[in-house]
Amino acid sequence: MMRRFSSLTILFCLAAIFFSGCSTVPSNGITQVATIDALLTGVYEGHMSLQELRSYGNFGLGTFEGLDGEMVFIDGTFYKVRADGKVYTPALSERTPFACVTAFDPDHRETITEQTDLAALEKRIDALVPEPNRFCAFKVRGTFDHVKARSVPAQQKPYPPLVEVTRNQPVFNLSNVQGTLIGFRSPPFVKGVNVPGYHVHFLVEDHSGGGHVLDFVMREGTLEADTVHDWLNIYLPTENPSFARADLTVDRTGETQAVEK
Ligand code: ZN
Repeated sequence: MMRRFSSLTILFCLAAIFFSGCSTVPSNGITQVATIDALLTGVYEGHMSLQELRSYGNFGLGTFEGLDGEMVFIDGTFYKVRADGKVYTPALSERTPFACVTAFDPDHRETITEQTDLAALEKRIDALVPEPNRFCAFKVRGTFDHVKARSVPAQQKPYPPLVEVTRNQPVFNLSNVQGTLIGFRSPPFVKGVNVPGYHVHFLVEDHSGGGHVLDFVMREGTLEADTVHDWLNIYLPTENPSFARADLTVDRTGETQAVEK
């Protein structure tokens, strides 16, 4: 009996190795759902469940079906910062119209002891990864004097373009908080596909707030960075006709700037 049990165990292990070896998840790369320009035009239908998205990483950011809040994905757990400023735990069956994730495995860690704002953090990461065509995922856990973050209110169909929604976006001024910044620095060549430059979301340590970061003043913290430039894996929605039919001929650089910064 004992012998049979161990041979079953070995079989199970071999199967696990076989299936993990056949995994289609690229390592040291980024997986994203749809494109930023599709989101800008108002394609807010959910294309992929959080359950499936989680199979591509444990770290990232994005939004939810109907543009219902900002996604912060930390250590394999999804958080949703809604327009009321509160943090919710979404069901894994919820879907996302746009998200960007990676299996975060930092290859650099440093302590930041001087006062740092968003521009100073960007400068620090640019010095760390000077090649402009490389992606960098980063996480900063710190003590903040101030974080200015926003969220977006859930939308009903027919969905308006994102620039119209963010004109009335709720902005949260979070003071004296501990929390974590989650972000990506993406190369200029992702224009139209993702956000070139910096895209940062925030979660307060006790889950009392967060959102899409507009600026901050950090007192001190720890920066972890992971260069994730081997792959850019893009899920192109096939089920939903709105993605296939979206007008993606227009240069939306100005809209991206208006919406993200
Ligand atoms: Zn964002």
